[in-house]
Amino acid sequence: MATDDLYGDLDDALDRAAKKEKQNTFRFALTLVGRFFIFLVALIMLGALILNRMETLLNEEAEVLVSHEAETTADIARDRFGGELEQLRRFSIAIAENKIARNQLVTLMEQVEPGVRAGISDINGRSIYGQEISREARAQLVRSAGGESAINYHEGVGLLLSVPIVINGNTQEVLYKYYDDKALRGKYFHLEGNLSKNIVFWSADENKVVIPYAGYGNEDDKFFDKETNAPLGKTDIVERVRLRGTSVIYDKDIDEKYAVFAAEIFDGFYMIGYAEWNPIVSNLLHIHRLVLWVFWLLLILFGIYTLYSFTAELKVSESDELSAAKKEADRANQAKSEFLANMSHEIRTPLNAVLGMNEMILREVGEGPLKNYAWNIKSASETLLSLINDILDFSKIESGKMELVNAEYSLSSILNDIFNMIRFKAEGKNLEFKIEVDGTAPDALIGDEVRVRQVIVNILNNAVKYTQKGSVTFKVAWEKKNDETALLKFMSIDTGIGIKKEDIGKLFSKFERLDLERNRNVEGTGLGLSITMNLVRMMGGELKVESEYEKGSVFTIEIPQKMPRYDAVGDFHKRVEDFLRQQKEYQESFVAPEAEILVVDDNEMNLYVVENLLKRTRVKVTKALSGRECLQKIAEQRFDIVFLDHMMPEMDGIETLQKALALPNSKCKNTPYIALTANAIAGVRDMFIKKGFTDYLSKPVDSKALERMLMHYLPNDKVLTGEDIEDEDEFVEETVEAAEEPVTAIETNEQQSVEMSEGKYIDVETGLSYSGGSEEMYKKFITMFVSRKDKVAEQLQNDFDTENWQDYTTHIHAVKSTSLSMGGKILSECAKALEMAGHAYLAGEEAEKNLSYIKEHHEEALDLYEKFAAEAKERKLMEE
Ligand code: ADP
Repeated sequence: MATDDLYGDLDDALDRAAKKEKQNTFRFALTLVGRFFIFLVALIMLGALILNRMETLLNEEAEVLVSHEAETTADIARDRFGGELEQLRRFSIAIAENKIARNQLVTLMEQVEPGVRAGISDINGRSIYGQEISREARAQLVRSAGGESAINYHEGVGLLLSVPIVINGNTQEVLYKYYDDKALRGKYFHLEGNLSKNIVFWSADENKVVIPYAGYGNEDDKFFDKETNAPLGKTDIVERVRLRGTSVIYDKDIDEKYAVFAAEIFDGFYMIGYAEWNPIVSNLLHIHRLVLWVFWLLLILFGIYTLYSFTAELKVSESDELSAAKKEADRANQAKSEFLANMSHEIRTPLNAVLGMNEMILREVGEGPLKNYAWNIKSASETLLSLINDILDFSKIESGKMELVNAEYSLSSILNDIFNMIRFKAEGKNLEFKIEVDGTAPDALIGDEVRVRQVIVNILNNAVKYTQKGSVTFKVAWEKKNDETALLKFMSIDTGIGIKKEDIGKLFSKFERLDLERNRNVEGTGLGLSITMNLVRMMGGELKVESEYEKGSVFTIEIPQKMPRYDAVGDFHKRVEDFLRQQKEYQESFVAPEAEILVVDDNEMNLYVVENLLKRTRVKVTKALSGRECLQKIAEQRFDIVFLDHMMPEMDGIETLQKALALPNSKCKNTPYIALTANAIAGVRDMFIKKGFTDYLSKPVDSKALERMLMHYLPNDKVLTGEDIEDEDEFVEETVEAAEEPVTAIETNEQQSVEMSEGKYIDVETGLSYSGGSEEMYKKFITMFVSRKDKVAEQLQNDFDTENWQDYTTHIHAVKSTSLSMGGKILSECAKALEMAGHAYLAGEEAEKNLSYIKEHHEEALDLYEKFAAEAKERKLMEE
């Protein structure tokens, strides 16, 4: 169920993460599209602006160009008219100097230039020689008589040019000539420039085209205004010439393709022309296009750059997010590993008590439902313990703290253990368990014994777990690599459910369980193979799987191990049989009433467990609650074995041992000292032996292991086996009877004799559960706990006053776990917080904050202890 929840939570978290990622991607895509759109609009606007500006510039430029050309054309026209006037002036000088007769000149001029009329007038404009002209034109002759050369157009006369004839400084006559309309039309005044063939000369005074171009005024003339009879665009251009001297306009209204240009040739006499626009601007257009190309190119480059920078930004933000997420994940993972490690450790302690108490129940209770319950507790607790061990291993692997501790070990002893363990499980499922060991395999090896055992047990356990009928075969083979190294091969072959091909890849992923539908009822976390794989790799080996779905699986572990020497394992079957026989013998028939042992542990409950486990053996057990007490006891009395807890406040097991060995008046100089430890990890045995211990025993204390230890270390003459024991039978029965008392207690418990009513500081239910349901035991514990109150308080106060935070933390730790096992939840919580603050302070984490926390809450813990004691008395939870 808990696993289901875990998977459920994991799924939820994954769902949430996937959703969030989708949202993020969507949001990012939206931002990208948005940005791109804004960018595009800005580009288009900019492009339009530039185009517009380019066109204006182009037109202005073209206008300047055309106006230059127009100016040149106008200059040519001016030269022509000016040349005519100049010629006339020279004739007038010739007359004044009497170089030619007047009538002769007039005739000559009219002859030389057909269509020209010439004449000489008096100063009043009346003709003396030649053609008389109209009255209106005479005003011009009068003006020339004033000394001025003039040129102008007069209706009915034509283009009239007049110069004064100056004799002796006075103008006495005026020489003139004129071209009538016909002559003008045919005359070379008609002008065609580079820009245009369509140039007209227009008189402002007469509002008339004086010199048209060929075809002017025809039906198809596009520059001729049929309504006004005037050149198109004339009004505007003449106006502009007058105002600004500008002589070009490009007005699309006139004709898309043409520009009008104009210049004043002389007073009131204009040249108006039409120039085709495109040829003029074509050169400019090339430049214009070039500029546009460059612009577009730049735009495209800019676009690519922007796109690139978007993606780069995307990547940067992704990689920022990624590295932040990675850091976060690493932190979370670290926290998780630490949490798991701490939790597993915390869980193992009360589990110790459960297993120990349960062991006692199993021994003391007779056959019946209670025994069954106890068996169930045992099996569930063992599963729980192995689960917790898996989690602990897994968190160690995850946090890189898993280390292999290599030492010499015996392969056959590992095989013995494995054989016993798996055989028992396989038999429980009616499976045949076969073991085939190559007798030449090396027995003495160097490696991490605990881990080698663990990986083999893992694959064999799986084989049993996932096989419903048939057999499980365990094969051990080997290969000699060189004189020092052997490659060991352990195979687990089962006839179980097998694994689908597509699932094999997932096999070694953490928390991955296959075929959930089928395996729903099989216990497991999906951690085993992941741990196995990691351990095998750490050992430099390989784990291989072959499987056929619904037929069975073969798991092979190959690991290289060093051989300190070569001893063959030999006939394994024979060894197993011997071993089994041996075990059976001493399990069933050993008592040691003469033996005296000392057990040292700061936790009364542990002492009680050991004492009760040994009841059957009748070994005399003396208990000590601290290192100091231990030293006193060994000075007083000789013991056959001393069991010494490792983790104790004030003086831990190692320090106690060192003092004990150095104690001059010790009566236990040659006594074996055996360490009790809850941290049964690889290498621990070596560590304890190095520190001077004879051996170690892991907690929760297993009764068989304890007895084996006694058998091994008690003096032979104090151990009674086989026949010796028969004499003692009477006593054994007594013991068993005595041991049945707690059963009665449990039964009475069912009638709820203990005050279960609500209390503030003690949760009886929790306390009872930690006492294996025995009210008697519970009362005993509480009594011990309460009786130690003053001493513990004094210790804590002393640590507090002397600021010995190291001891303070150890002492408050003891209060935390003991009070919890009595149901003193509030006190335990308070002590736990103090312990954590103590650890943090000692580790130098936020030292001030943690120290002031301790200072603030120290009194509270003492007070809660008092309240606990008061409530225990009040609710009669103590022994009478
Ligand atoms: P679990 O705790 O679930 O047994 P493991 O990591 O040991 O975790 O194994 C992972 C999965 O591999 C199992 O849930 C099971 O589906 C499959 N598996 C492992 N060993 C076998 C086997 N011998 N036969 C069939 N399936 C197996």
